[in-house]
This record gives sequence, structure tokens and C-alpha cells, in this order.
Amino acid sequence: MAIEPNLADYDSFSSSFSWEQEKSGLSGLPTGQGLNIAYEAIDRHANGTLSNHTAFRFIHKDRSVMECSYQDYKELTNRFANVLGQLGITKGDRIFSFLGRTPELYFSALGTLKKVAVFCPLFNVFGPEPVFQRLSRGDARVLVTTKDLFEKKIRQLLERLPELKYVLLTDADQDESIKIRSLPRLMEEASAEFTIPPTDPEDPALLHFTSGTTGMPKGALHVHKGVLVHYVTGKYVLDFHPDDVYWCTADPGWVTGTSYGIIAPLVNGVTNVVDEEEFDATRWYSILEEQKVNIWYTAPTAIRRLMRMNINPREKYNLENLRLMLSVGEPLHAEAVLWGEKTFGMPFLDNWWQTETGGIMIANFRSLPVRPGSMGKPLPGVEAAVAEITEGDLHIIKEPGKDGQLVLKRGWPSMFRTYLHDQERYNKSFHGDWYITGDLARRDSDGYYWFVGRADDIIKTSGHMVGPFEVESVLMEHAAVAEAAVIGKPDQLIGEMVKAFIVLKPDQHADEALKMDITAHARRKLGPAVAPKEIAFIDNLPKTRSGKILRRLLKARELGLPEGDLSTLEQP
Ligand code: ATP
Ligand code: MG
Repeated sequence: MAIEPNLADYDSFSSSFSWEQEKSGLSGLPTGQGLNIAYEAIDRHANGTLSNHTAFRFIHKDRSVMECSYQDYKELTNRFANVLGQLGITKGDRIFSFLGRTPELYFSALGTLKKVAVFCPLFNVFGPEPVFQRLSRGDARVLVTTKDLFEKKIRQLLERLPELKYVLLTDADQDESIKIRSLPRLMEEASAEFTIPPTDPEDPALLHFTSGTTGMPKGALHVHKGVLVHYVTGKYVLDFHPDDVYWCTADPGWVTGTSYGIIAPLVNGVTNVVDEEEFDATRWYSILEEQKVNIWYTAPTAIRRLMRMNINPREKYNLENLRLMLSVGEPLHAEAVLWGEKTFGMPFLDNWWQTETGGIMIANFRSLPVRPGSMGKPLPGVEAAVAEITEGDLHIIKEPGKDGQLVLKRGWPSMFRTYLHDQERYNKSFHGDWYITGDLARRDSDGYYWFVGRADDIIKTSGHMVGPFEVESVLMEHAAVAEAAVIGKPDQLIGEMVKAFIVLKPDQHADEALKMDITAHARRKLGPAVAPKEIAFIDNLPKTRSGKILRRLLKARELGLPEGDLSTLEQP
């Protein structure tokens, strides 16, 4: 498979780009009956030249490695689809997983898509209540989990979940009842042959809950057609080439771990590394070395943790196979981009998207100069703009350099099709043809987009609108600072004052002198109106389990207000 991105001339490439034309890179179902994600990801490779190629490399907790070929996965996913058939599951039913990053999670996901049912992966560290909320709101029919997770968190919920018909345990030898079954047994009894039914590109495929950074998580529903975006971004953003080994560190419980931890790499026929363990710097560097990873997709929160350690990985590890690293999920500070480039000796590309967009929408591309601190340019085929929205009116800001709402023109293939049980909210997130992302951004005169902040986090101080990202970026430049988050705190004189919460690097002393030094640095860079008026040193910033700073929680605590939905809060 020759993949030759040519984005060097971004403008002419974008103007001649068409989704219709890109479709020729996918197969479609053999009977001509539509487009199915699992067929594109697995079967067409298994039926072709990549049959014996490694699709997955699972790194177990003890560091042993299990490889599965595209053919192996074709059979496993066929079996799982047949298991669902046997249980009476039909098109559109919701299948949930509550698992670590084990092979079962991945074959359940793709097997569900073959059956044209809807898959919803849940992050396995959720407690019982967040799991209950999602299973009930998502009308779960089947849940795939382990014995241990079942006993600890699910059994107590069963009475409250009458619609949940089956629980499939991945490590049980025996069925407990008609309802609680052994998945290995069902898989063994199921046939390894399965014909994917006709799949309309608009058939629902995946349900993903948002991170809950700004409030109650929303359930975004995605359709099979979205695979086109995963294919295209795999080619042009992740720069997949034949024989690449790729590692996405995100959990499939968040959209990145599904779109880019399952679909995009497989659709593009590369080898997908999955680590079953949580973050650990030494382990991560060893995996990059041992697995000869070429492309690494991770998140700012992980990068900040690596930066904090002050070690030079290239002195200890052979990372010469690595040729590209990318980041998503939060703003990637210019500081971090430069650190990545210097430390690893390769481009470090930030890109922007959301659960709702289903795939990467704005990116720094391999073939374009990187602007550290910028999210990059819109994906060809995606129309982005900065807009002013007042009293229901949307006005596109044409001049560069102005802050406004980041909006996207409706119609990219992986756009969410609804918020589950909340069509009204879905409708409200559009204005005519424009989808309102809820983020604020600025476009420079060369067409690069710069993240300003979430609309909810904007601080209004002395007549200025201050985006937290700008202030946090400056704080991050200070040698003592490991992480920073700023909020607006009501102030009688100036509306809101900027307050910063700072986590120091391990060797630093949290004293008044350091506070003054950081303040002086911020004032020099930002001016007194925008620089933080108050600084608090804390041990950890509250984050979502997907690694995003929960500014709303810092603010609620500061003001003594109710803390709101904390179902995704990571316990440090
Ligand atoms: P919720 O919608 O429930 O509040 P969330 O928006 O954090 O949660 P996600 O869909 O997981 O849920 O995250 C998308 C958001 O993450 C974006 O809207 C943006 O605010 C932020 N984000 C993602 N990538 C980037 C990036 N490269 N730069 C800046 N911000 C980013
Ligand atoms: Mg959001």
C-alpha cells in the first residue's frame, strides 16, 4: 500500500481535496452493500496481502508480548459477532465493555461493529456510579468485563439495570447463569466464519462519552462513515507508511483510544502496539525502544510528566526508530513542543479535535513547518473558522489575529450524529451550517490556528478577555514550574482576577521568594493586567481520567461552590 501524502503545498492540496475521491482508498463491503468500519480495519487486509501482517502487539503487564495478525483478528472478531448473534443482538443494540486494554476489548469492539451493533468502551477505573450512569443512559444490552471488575463494581448494579441482558466475563470458565456467561466458552462454540451484513454508512457504530471537563459528560454517537476520516488522518497527519509500528497511549474509554488506538492504524494496515499498563516513564521509554515504535501518539499530560523528570531518554534508550510524535487532548505548550523536538530529535506535532468531531480536525502536518504552540491548520476537507456569536447571531471573523469561537462547517464524515437522549443540546451546538465547538481560537495570517481556551474558562479581567492557555504557557516557561492552571476569581474592582495554581518541579521549594519570582516573570511577559494576581502552590492539579485539567473544579473549590459531576475525576 503506497501512501504518499503531499501536503507541502497545503493550499492547492486542500482546494483539490475531496472526501469522495479519498473513498477510493477504502474497499466498501464486497457485496457493494455499504461501508463497515470493521471490514475496512480488519477483513480487507486479512483477505489481501496483509493477512499475516501483525495487526496488534499486546504488551501484557509483565512485559510479555502477544502478537495477532490481521487474519487472527478476522477470526476473533467473526467469532464475537457470532456470539452476539447467538444472544439475539441485532443492529443498533448497544454493547459496552468495561475492561483494561486487553485483546478482548479490541475484538469485542470490532466484532460488535461487524454485527452493526453499537460499541461503547468504558475506562476500567471508573467506580460503580459512573459506570451505572453510562450503562443506563446508553441502554446497554451486553457488557463485556472481567470477573474481578464484575464482582467489585457491576454485580451491585444489576438490579438497577433491567435492560442489561448479558454480562460476558472474559476470564470465567463457566457460565454463572443465563445472564452471566463465560466469554471464552461462547467464543469457542461460535463459528469463525461470519458475513458482515449490509451496513449503511449512516448506521450508528460507536458511542463515546466526553471527558466531562466542563460538566456532565455527553454521549456522542458516531456512524460507520466516520472511518473515512480515520483513514485520511492516518495518512496525512499520523503519516502512516507500510510496516510502521505505531503506539497510541490513550485508553479506548476515551475517543482517542478508539479512533486512533483501534481504527486509524488498522484501516491503514500498520502494526498497532497496545500497552496494558498505566503510565510509567521507564516502561514507556523501554516500550518505544523494544517495540521499535516509529510513530507515537500521546497527550500533553504525559509529556509534562516526562518533562518533569529531567532525564534525557536518548542517553539510556535506543530510540532511533521513532520518527514522529504527536499530541492531542489539551493545549500543547510551545515549551513542550520544543522539549519534544530537542529530547527526541524529531518533529512533535500537536493536533486538535473533540469527541464530537470523531477524528482529527486541525493539525500540524509533517510536511509543513511546525509553529510551536499552535494547533496547526485544518485537515483538507474540513472548513474551520473563527466566529463571533452574539444573541443567536453568528458572524465569521475574516481578519486574522482575532479571538473568537472555533467553528467547523457541518459535513465532515466523522461528525457526531447526536448527543444521546439529548437531541436538543445537539441542535443547540449548531448555528446553520456551523458546528460550535465550545473552544476559543485565533487564526494567524498564515492560516495556523491557536488555542485560546474553552469558552467556559475565559477570564474577564479589567476589560480584557484572557484565555487560560496564554497565561499557563508563560508560567510553564519558568524553570521551577511543572504544571499550571489559571482561573478567574470574582473581584469587585476588576471583574475577575487571574489566579494561578502551580505544581512545582520535584527539586523546588514552595516559598514566597519563588512566588515573587514567578509573578515577576509573568508580569514581564504578559503585563500586569493579565499576569496572575494570586498564586497558589499545590501538589497536583485535579484532572479528568483522560488527562485534562479540571479548571471548573479549581474554581468551585476556590469559591466554595458545589463541585458538580466528578465521575471522570482522576484520584491522584
Ligand atoms: P466535556 O465536553 O465533557 O466538557 P471535553 O471537551 O474535555 O469534555 P473531549 O471531547 O475529550 O471532552 O475533549 C475535547 C476538548 O479537548 C477540546 O474541545 C479542547 O478543549 C481540548 N483539546 C483537545 N485537543 C486540543 C489541542 N490540541 N489543543 C487545545 N485543546 C485541545
Ligand atoms: Mg467538550
